Amino acid sequence: MSINIVKPELLAPAGNFKKLQAALIYGADAVYFGGKNFSLRAFGDNFTREEILKAVEFTHGLGKKIYAAVNIFAHNADLDALADYLKFLDRAGVDAVLISDLGVLTLAKELTDLKIHISTQANVTNWRAAKFFHELGAERIVLARELTCAEILDIKENCAAELEIFVHGAMCISYSGRCWLSKFLTGRDANLGACTHSCRWKYNLVEEKRAGEFFPIGEDERGSYVMNSKDLCLLPYLDKVIQSGVTSLKIEGRMKSVNYVAGVVKVYRAAIDSYFDNPNDFKTRDEWLDELNKIAHRPYTTGFFMSDGEPTEIYDTSKPSRSTEFLGIVREFNLETMTATIEQRGKFEVGDRAEFFQPHGETFSQEITSMRDADGQEILSAPHAQQIVKIRVDKPVEIWSLIRS
Ligand code: SF4
Repeated sequence: MSINIVKPELLAPAGNFKKLQAALIYGADAVYFGGKNFSLRAFGDNFTREEILKAVEFTHGLGKKIYAAVNIFAHNADLDALADYLKFLDRAGVDAVLISDLGVLTLAKELTDLKIHISTQANVTNWRAAKFFHELGAERIVLARELTCAEILDIKENCAAELEIFVHGAMCISYSGRCWLSKFLTGRDANLGACTHSCRWKYNLVEEKRAGEFFPIGEDERGSYVMNSKDLCLLPYLDKVIQSGVTSLKIEGRMKSVNYVAGVVKVYRAAIDSYFDNPNDFKTRDEWLDELNKIAHRPYTTGFFMSDGEPTEIYDTSKPSRSTEFLGIVREFNLETMTATIEQRGKFEVGDRAEFFQPHGETFSQEITSMRDADGQEILSAPHAQQIVKIRVDKPVEIWSLIRS
């Protein structure tokens, strides 16, 4: 069977309403979010019912799609509330629900007309499993991250369901989140959305009779992060990803910042569009990789995709690296006075150099030469979080541009 290649959807995380707006404005075709309960990011901001209605209206207003993650493994006690929540999501008009648990799937089918996407948490690793979920009524399968390009192609050839794969973001050291480590060490269950990322902690060895003496497990004198995975980045293989015929390319990170979401989305938007402009001459541009390196991240890996034996763990630190600081978001721009109104995020002052990362236009940088507060008073710095400040800009700047150091 030959694979029909269509332009894939770019799907971005929406940890809260601002991140949802950023993702869509910077070029995502669709977003996914979690409600206050029943999604696997219990510590994300997550959406109230009121916010879900607002999010659906905003997303559909742009002609884009919005999916709700309902991907916990439910217990009996959850079922009544889940039934009510699924009916609400159906009325709200979300475009699909992401489900892992078969009980939740039967509830959604019995009580709603919602489209069903099978979450990566269900660990679909072969075409028979994909076909099984498709026959149960799932329109799309989010494949497990632990698959090679060849395996994805094989699943595509043998299953008519839409396929979605992760192309960017943090990975689990265990099987796509099916993990008991956090629950064992802290009582917080990853399978109920409460993971404490215990795999990223620094571990040492202790001999029973020498309490308080910590022996490094690895080579490094600081200890060893034995289970700390690198971050996934399939940008260098985007042509192969697209040629595998998958329907949706997913970015991980509902708990990441607006800066992260906007930056990663803009890069993948440009790369996907570039591939379809000229499929035979696709090259990963240095400027895209530079941009991904500016955003907070652990060292990148292509994970399992090329099965090239590249190490996927990073043993010496769990701290993400980044080369820019997020300083603020442009909320308004006045062309007559060349003034940008900024919602401040990081500390900056007159005399600093700032980079303007725009949703569509080119990134430019300039010195901040003057600054006023919301009342028009001249100020030298903006010390308060989310303070509104006005600065003079050298060039017209798009609303929703991000300012970075
Ligand atoms: S502890 Fe690590 S491997 Fe386990 S679910 Fe959390 S992030 Fe994934």
